[in-house]
Amino acid sequence: MGSTGSIGTQALNVIRRHRDLFSVEVLCAGSNAALLIEQALEFDPNAVVIADESKYATVQEALSPKGIKVFAGVSSMVDLMEMESIDMVLAAIVGFAGLRPTLHAIECGKPVALANKETMVVAGSIVTAAAQHHRVPILPVDSEHSAIFQCLMGESSGVDKILLTASGGPFRGRTRADLASVTLEQALNHPNWSMGRKVTIDSATLMNKGLEVIEAKWLFGVEANDIEVVVHPQSVVHSMVQFVDGSVKAQLGIPTMETPIQYAFSFPERIESHLPRLDFAKYPNLTFERPDRDTFRCLDLAYRAIGQGGNMPCIMNAANEVAVQQFIDGRIGFLGIADFVEQTMQTAPFIPNPTLDDLLSTDKEIRSKGKI
Ligand code: NDP
Repeated sequence: MGSTGSIGTQALNVIRRHRDLFSVEVLCAGSNAALLIEQALEFDPNAVVIADESKYATVQEALSPKGIKVFAGVSSMVDLMEMESIDMVLAAIVGFAGLRPTLHAIECGKPVALANKETMVVAGSIVTAAAQHHRVPILPVDSEHSAIFQCLMGESSGVDKILLTASGGPFRGRTRADLASVTLEQALNHPNWSMGRKVTIDSATLMNKGLEVIEAKWLFGVEANDIEVVVHPQSVVHSMVQFVDGSVKAQLGIPTMETPIQYAFSFPERIESHLPRLDFAKYPNLTFERPDRDTFRCLDLAYRAIGQGGNMPCIMNAANEVAVQQFIDGRIGFLGIADFVEQTMQTAPFIPNPTLDDLLSTDKEIRSKGKI
């Protein structure tokens, strides 16, 4: 799911290199019909889904003659998770839109390779309970969470805290005054990673790290206060775990998403990769610092949201998606993102024990207020 995005295309690179191990059963895209068609012609899936129903005819015309089934709409995406021939689902849709199909994949007993962190942020307790109930593994794709997962391998107890690394984004070291006038182009210019627009803006505000703290809490069953964010601008140490005896384990590698994607696909095996190896001589300085939480306020908003629990992370996530889109559209400035998120968290109705329907309506209400 999300085959036409940054994670989706990198996942297909992994599959292209390991055709003997992996094949594609279904490809799901949002609205990029041209790329979906190109991918389907190359990977020959059983079926494709285009969420944007207005693109159905174009995709159907190109792929039906090849014997590939074509569906449209998010509900088709959800329904196709039931296909018996699917062994694993890569959840790489961006944002809240990934929640329903990811949850349904789990309910259908499919192991999930999880990139779509917003699913965990919004509905972590529901998603982890469903995974436990259906005995479905959730394999992290986010490089930090893949690193933590690997550091925890073979450790049954004794975790003191998780050290979640952050590059600091394009505006590391800037003051609030500097940030008042930064442009969209500057915010999209990430120093280490090439990613979709939403996650790139989230990296610039540090909301991405806030979302990752919440994702880590649910994936690894730790309290948010036991997760410390450490800024590491080289993005070589992908994250670390500190144990009660003071030992720290880290996982390192070059900054590429193909390694964690491949690991999620091949787990518990490790398989050959032709990606460049980490050359330590190229990284003589690996540096670490504390995040500037006064300037990058989104990080604290995320800790606050998970501390309050209930539907607050869902409120925060929806407000953030609205605000990021408004920033992309030029309707608010960069600092307006945190302001909008905070204001929404203060005013939206709080539900202490939300059901899935409560979360769907919380998200809808906040989006309608933000008019996207
Ligand atoms: P992109 O914006 O590059 O891709 C998003 C994908 O989701 C596209 O395939 C898009 O389709 C699809 N999509 C968007 N909206 C919908 C919708 N309503 N219904 C169905 N499909 C939809 O995002 P990324 O690949 O960068 O990120 C995907 C997820 O992975 C995010 O949650 C992100 O936080 C996470 N992640 C990303 C990393 C990265 O390096 N990129 C690293 C770690 C995590 P289309 O383009 O056809 O419209």
